[in-house]
Amino acid sequence: AVLLLIALVVVLVHLRTLYLRRQATQLQRQIDEHTRDLLAANQRLDELASTDGLTGVYNRRRFLELAGSVRAQSQGRSVCIALFDLDRFKQINDTHGHLAGDAVIRGAIEVIKQHCRQGDLVGRYGGEEFVLCLPDTGLPLAQDIAERICMMLAATRVSHDGRAIPVTVSIGVAALRAGESIEQWLSRADKALYEAKRAGRNRCAIAS
Ligand code: GH3
Ligand code: MG
Ligand code: MG
Repeated sequence: AVLLLIALVVVLVHLRTLYLRRQATQLQRQIDEHTRDLLAANQRLDELASTDGLTGVYNRRRFLELAGSVRAQSQGRSVCIALFDLDRFKQINDTHGHLAGDAVIRGAIEVIKQHCRQGDLVGRYGGEEFVLCLPDTGLPLAQDIAERICMMLAATRVSHDGRAIPVTVSIGVAALRAGESIEQWLSRADKALYEAKRAGRNRCAIAS
């Protein structure tokens, strides 16, 4: 009877251990699933916080962070920035409506992206203003890229609601100077952009 009792206790302990092990496996599986969901949700939140909802490119805050890193790591290599501002965009909104304006913004970003290489950064700087950071790029190549974007956009018609909408862009390009802050760099690109506007729009100007 004692032996039988011991055997029964052993069997019960063994069964209880099996049960607990199975519970632990199930719990671990649930924890893994929740962790995966949390990671995916975090990634989605990060995307939402760093991209522009209309165009999908970096928003201004994220662009400035990334361009700041490019600047910090440039270590004497050439790096350029191009600031874009669509010409007479208010007129496009007034003539064709705000949704057509949105389509034009998306179309302009597509043209800019078509000229980007891996590692280039595109951001929406403001309403109808965009910015492109070109790492390892000297001023002549940056100017060439900006001029090609300018020409291609002028030759493009954005279709919206059965209409083909023309648009042009003015661009200011600046090469990073040694010791210059990102604000100073952007401010020189902005001055060049203003020069491009003043000179008649639909063109590219280089910062001095
Ligand atoms: P300029 O050639 O001097 O740049 O003239 P502009 O008309 O492009 O410049 P202005 O600053 O007068 O007008 C910009 C307009 O862009 C005004 C604003 O309503 C419009 N805008 C800003 N963000 C958006 C947007 O997300 N969608 C649309 N459709 N319009 C926008
Ligand atoms: Mg503007
Ligand atoms: Mg404009």
